[in-house]
Amino acid sequence: MIQVSDLSHTFPVGNNTGFTVLNNINFEIEQGKIAAIMGKSGSGKSTLLNLLSGYLKPRTGRIVLNDKDVTGFNENEWAKFRLNNLGFVFQSYQLISSMTVFENVQMPLMVKGISPGRRTELVFEMLEKVGLYSHTEFYPDQLSGGQQQRTSVARALINNPEILLADEPTGSLDSYNEKLLLELIYQLNDELGITVLLVTHDKEVAEKSHEIIRVKDGHIIEQDDDRDF
Ligand code: ATP
Ligand code: MG
Repeated sequence: MIQVSDLSHTFPVGNNTGFTVLNNINFEIEQGKIAAIMGKSGSGKSTLLNLLSGYLKPRTGRIVLNDKDVTGFNENEWAKFRLNNLGFVFQSYQLISSMTVFENVQMPLMVKGISPGRRTELVFEMLEKVGLYSHTEFYPDQLSGGQQQRTSVARALINNPEILLADEPTGSLDSYNEKLLLELIYQLNDELGITVLLVTHDKEVAEKSHEIIRVKDGHIIEQDDDRDF
């Protein structure tokens, strides 16, 4: 469950007033729903996801994730919360360049202290699901954009998060891999009740979500939550 109230963000740019991107945003996504965020380039979609995952601190407002008020979390609390509850797919992937696909994806499991044998099992299973089984030993700069994106999704899902925040997770993918990835997300949603908030420019992807949230000029102009899945 994701609850956002009166959330605002201002970047410290130029003059003293800074640059306000989000202005008193309010919305709620129930547990187990898939919501798509849409809006023009520069409307604040990535900023919103970064606030929801603690990578940015909001100027004002409150964020509640799975009944936990995370607004005042410090870095350690965020790191722990992310590890146990959140999967995050960055728009720019943020893979570690000195690590192979396998090593990138297993990282959250290492931090959690999962045994090497179990890690290998889980990582191979996940890489199979995202179609990267034959690229486990490749480094990020040896991968295509779409392969990097799928690695990033695999890393976000490896911990069985209760909430997935994904910034254009299919933006670099061909239609086959887009379908593969979306089906994986729908399946996790269906079987495990994972709550998903994904940014997309793709109307078809948005149409398949339970809800569409539209961001414009720092405000939410529409939350359409009466959709058939
Ligand atoms: P896109 O669809 O292109 O990814 P977006 O909706 O994700 O766009 P954001 O990345 O959230 O947009 O950026 C929203 C606005 O905030 C932009 O005008 C951008 O210039 C500004 N912005 C983003 N990050 C920073 C930053 N670190 N410092 C200053 N301004 C920023
Ligand atoms: Mg963005």
